[in-house]
Amino acid sequence: MTTPPKIYSTEAIVLKHTPLGEADYLLTMYTPNRGKTRAVAKGARRVKSRLGGHLEPLMRASLLMARGQNLDVVSQAEALEGFRTVREDLQRVSQALCMAELVDAITPEEQPNYPIYRLFLESLRRLEGDAPPSLMPFFQLHLLEQSGFRPELYRCVECDSTLAPGLHRFAPDRGGTLCVSCHPPGLTILPLSLDTLKVLRFLQREVYNIAARLHLEPGTLLEMERLLGALLRCVLEREVKASRFLHQVSQDDRERAEAAASPANNIKE
Ligand SMILES: [Zn+2]
Repeated sequence: MTTPPKIYSTEAIVLKHTPLGEADYLLTMYTPNRGKTRAVAKGARRVKSRLGGHLEPLMRASLLMARGQNLDVVSQAEALEGFRTVREDLQRVSQALCMAELVDAITPEEQPNYPIYRLFLESLRRLEGDAPPSLMPFFQLHLLEQSGFRPELYRCVECDSTLAPGLHRFAPDRGGTLCVSCHPPGLTILPLSLDTLKVLRFLQREVYNIAARLHLEPGTLLEMERLLGALLRCVLEREVKASRFLHQVSQDDRERAEAAASPANNIKE
């Protein structure tokens, strides 16, 4: 039997770091070849650390790793992409942290899933630019799909009939749409408008460059946020902390936009 090399290199996006001992960080990272993985960055919390600045959450870094008995240890790190625009903007960083928390919550450790790595990396790059409002629902739908939780949006999850236009609801516990004839007891059932259903289907089947051109009405966006939030809570069996924060930031932005657009602000003194 051959033993694996003691030192190996990988690239990774840092999902989060938690203090460990006096000066170390325990890193949770997403890598292209190993999926989610955890490692120790020794001394990374010291001011003069050569590692610390390269291993902030949401950074993509090239790493040299040493195999440890329990956890591997980062011996060298070099930042490849810092996503500075994302990390310096409240709206962007809250979206990115929400994405990172979702990736962390939905993926098992040490199970490679390159499509998820790619989706996460490309979403961070899009957030660096002019990310349209469809980015977050697009990310959530495709993350669910790549993790094996693709929501059903064409048939009733209870009786398997094809949905008739306008006659549908959404059952997050069952992971999809419900026809109006089915009333399974004890289920949370959410209303689902035809517009929102069409948008969800569109985002689910299209590639990003096409999905990004979609214009979304605020009402559709809110309904989608509610449905996908409920679905993710069911899949993950817990609340996503960062998404509550993101919701608050988005709400504040909407209120500011409404206040700026209200006629009272246009009256000249
Ligand atoms: Zn049905």
